[in-house]
Amino acid sequence: MDRRMDEQELLDSFEDALKACHIHACYQPQINHRTGRMVGAEALMRWRNPEYGLQYPADFIPVLEKNDLIYRADVHLFETVCRFQRRCLDKGIALVPISVNVSRYDIYRHDYVQAIEDIRRKYDIPVRQLRLEITESSAIAGMKLMTQTIATLHDLGYVVEMDDFGSGYSSLNILKDLDVDIIKLDMEFLRGEIGGRGGIIINSVVQMAKWLGMPLIVEGVETVEQADYMRSIGCDYIQGYLYAKPLAEDAFLQEVEKIEHEPLTPAMKLRTAINAGVFWDPNSMETLIFSNFVGAAALFTYDENGKVEFLRVNAKYLQAMGMNNSEQDIIAANFWDGFDEYNRAVYEKTLRQAIASGDEESCETWRDIHSACCGDDRICIRSHLRVIGSTGTQYLVYVMVQNITAEKKNYQLLSESERRFRFASEQANVYAWEYTIANHQMRPCFRCMRDLNLPPLLENYPEPAIDAGIFPPDYADMYRDWHRQIEQGVPHLEAIIPLTVGRIPFHVRYTTEFDENGRPLKAYGSATLVVDRGASGATGGDGAGQ
Ligand code: C2E
Ligand code: CA
Ligand code: CA
Repeated sequence: MDRRMDEQELLDSFEDALKACHIHACYQPQINHRTGRMVGAEALMRWRNPEYGLQYPADFIPVLEKNDLIYRADVHLFETVCRFQRRCLDKGIALVPISVNVSRYDIYRHDYVQAIEDIRRKYDIPVRQLRLEITESSAIAGMKLMTQTIATLHDLGYVVEMDDFGSGYSSLNILKDLDVDIIKLDMEFLRGEIGGRGGIIINSVVQMAKWLGMPLIVEGVETVEQADYMRSIGCDYIQGYLYAKPLAEDAFLQEVEKIEHEPLTPAMKLRTAINAGVFWDPNSMETLIFSNFVGAAALFTYDENGKVEFLRVNAKYLQAMGMNNSEQDIIAANFWDGFDEYNRAVYEKTLRQAIASGDEESCETWRDIHSACCGDDRICIRSHLRVIGSTGTQYLVYVMVQNITAEKKNYQLLSESERRFRFASEQANVYAWEYTIANHQMRPCFRCMRDLNLPPLLENYPEPAIDAGIFPPDYADMYRDWHRQIEQGVPHLEAIIPLTVGRIPFHVRYTTEFDENGRPLKAYGSATLVVDRGASGATGGDGAGQ
């Protein structure tokens, strides 16, 4: 029967426990949930007392720390792990990297790194097969010492992990200041509330780790639901009871032999050389640029299931979207809300093009937005998308947006009024035509075709109208010049011109239509009979007017 030992019993038996290896290691595998392969393991300290049975860290580590014994226990455990790795090497078994916990009290001891390095050399273990887990709390205890220790470990080639990331208050700053290689997150944050506050914290940490290009391991994963959730937000590396409890050395050795291994890779590979770390620093030049100079921009991830997750949006982005929401609101909201099926398809097609081309790709999509103050609205957004990073299944996308709702609405109004105009022209003494600037084509209205005997399409306009004498020779150059002016973007032209051999005075008008970039696209022409007071209507032949 196991019984918890009290402080005095622990202290009295400590020396013997070290010598007899009663203090030993259990190993918990770390698994890639996607592939089922092992990416590493963590060594966890156990103390088996011949009299009282198995003791757990929660009960004896605080006692060892308090009595300045943890250093010796940790160095002992490191040696145990080296001995295990040596055993594998000697048996010809492929090693899996094993993480060892470092107490903050170890870091206070300036000889800790030297002590473990001597042991590693003694057992001749490749340095990449040993990882060291430090915690946020030890960092808080002394940033300078911590930074130096990590630098020394890196110089020697060790991989350093940040354990229990996010449990402290200054996590973001810690990551910025400490040059760790791997982040470990505890599922504890999420217990019982997937999608709740814990979910949001975990999610933003995962997104941040990606942006920093760091591998991320989640521990304490007990259920399939939790593992699937982590996977859904792009975190595949899992350590927890779901896959394996901490195992005794022999049992672990069997797993190492049985399960295939694979290396840990960063959650996200950046395509472009952006210094991601500074991006999260509110005072960095990059953040300054992002916030103030680049226009409306955002950064999001897009995965193979079509899920979009915002990482950052700047103030101008919020403005362009016409919302009085905060960055947090946008990040928390479902991106696809507001898109109808058609517009979503357009947007996703463009995303896929951007993924394939590695270039900037653009699209225009309409979305319904809802804002607390202004109610519902429908907006048109032009998006310029560029993929700047990727994993196999998830992409990091930088998007710049323009709100082009007003332009679009003007355009619609114009074609609407044109339609109305055309309809009206059929009723009154008006001839209308449409001139396409790019190819100099003219399409006459039905009335023109009937009265002037024109085909439905005239090439090289206005020459055919001049040749046919509709525009008389003395007005030909002026009329040609109008078309040059239209091409240069003159929005409106009008004059009284005597048309046809009969030199019947018509009020001729042109209205230019522009595309969204302000380039002239088409011009709508009309000729209205100038009716002199008392003149009988020369209506061009239909005779219905008077
Ligand atoms: P830790 O470093 O965060 O280790 C993870 C703890 O979570 C371990 O507890 C592990 O057994 C437990 N765990 C793993 N999977 C699950 C799961 O699915 N659900 C739950 N509820 N728990 C899970 P353990 O072994 O009791 O260790 C507790 C803590 O003691 C460790 O937390 C670490 O801070 C410390 N510790 C363990 N070994 C050492 C060591 O060699 N040196 C030092 N200084 N501290 C150690
Ligand atoms: Ca740990
Ligand atoms: Ca942990």
